[in-house]
Amino acid sequence: MTSLVDSLTQNALPGVLSLHAYTPGMPIDELQRRLGIKDVLKLASNENPLGASPAVRKAVAAAAADQNLGLYPDGSGYALKQAIARYHDVQPEQITLGNGSNDILEFLSRIYAGPGRAVMFSDYAFAVYSLATQAQNAEAVIVPAFPADHPTMPFGHDLAAFARVLKTRPDVSLVFIANPNNPTGTWNTPQEIEAFLDTVPPHVIVALDEAYFDYQDVELRSNARAWLDRYPNLLVCRTFSKIYGIAALRVGYSLSHPAVADLLNRVRQPFNNNALALIAAEAALADQDHVRESVELNAAERLRLPPLLQSMGLKILPSQANFLTIDFARNAAPVHQGLLERGIIVRPMASYGLPNFLRVSIGTRSENNRFIDALRDVLGTQRG
Ligand SMILES: *Cc1c(COP(=O)(O)O)cnc(C)c1O
Repeated sequence: MTSLVDSLTQNALPGVLSLHAYTPGMPIDELQRRLGIKDVLKLASNENPLGASPAVRKAVAAAAADQNLGLYPDGSGYALKQAIARYHDVQPEQITLGNGSNDILEFLSRIYAGPGRAVMFSDYAFAVYSLATQAQNAEAVIVPAFPADHPTMPFGHDLAAFARVLKTRPDVSLVFIANPNNPTGTWNTPQEIEAFLDTVPPHVIVALDEAYFDYQDVELRSNARAWLDRYPNLLVCRTFSKIYGIAALRVGYSLSHPAVADLLNRVRQPFNNNALALIAAEAALADQDHVRESVELNAAERLRLPPLLQSMGLKILPSQANFLTIDFARNAAPVHQGLLERGIIVRPMASYGLPNFLRVSIGTRSENNRFIDALRDVLGTQRG
């Protein structure tokens, strides 16, 4: 006799049946409920510790009060696309808006991935690439990352290996590159990315996920505009969730050839961005002072924290992002638990095959000090 659950799931696509749902960073409320801790610090999802700029909060509050919330939003995102087009000096036809850039990654898999087609990305790359690939019943071609003992970029994307593997896999239709990558923080130089793009046939779409673009040192930042002209098969993905501080509102976008944008637009649900999110993103883009302040805070703390961690005998991966990935050289789960008990949420890396690592988002100076003090306390307790 088949059980009810078997009946309900037997016709689900095999790729979906073998999926494991994405585990997000623990929400603050959950830790408050679980351990009864009031003062919880979340450094687990690479959010901007300064949050949304005052200009954004003002624009959203005004829109929530004024706007007729009974009407559908502008499904074409006209005003936001105009602003993004000006910001990047591209045509509005090259822009696709997503409910977070996660939405864009899924559109890509819906268009280019499926049975008999393969999607290429690095080992230790952002988890959504494999989820989106599997959900489409496509094959994942996972390129080995640089080894743990690599002199400069342990666990980083090996783009020369991408090029070699791609030559042997004519079934690859889509390539994902995260630069900088999450969860490792590692990066590729613009020269490395260009050298790879030069080898990719024009029918293979390369999605360059630049969620952490603004956190990079200036000389490492790509020139998306110039690349889009040179490589029509390139798609660049950006988000308002990280540096712009509006992760709650879910807005991301891609820049691509208009022909690719046209395909993305066909699989997008008609109103994938809500009206308040569209207004918030436009206000966020206009407030580049807030971006600069956020970049400066992160850059200063990204320099200050590594020596403090190293003084505790810990190694960290090189980072061009707003987080640090820490090697505990033993199972990091007890450290994660110890931090939770002290009201601090960081991100375990076991689901990425890195059980000895924890990823911590860079917060404000005082938040980071609280984290360092708690970590010292946890390590002291667990040693002796
Ligand atoms: C956070 C993140 C995203 C974007 O998330 P959204 O909130 O959906 O825009 C995309 N790619 C990487 C690598 C990320 O870390």
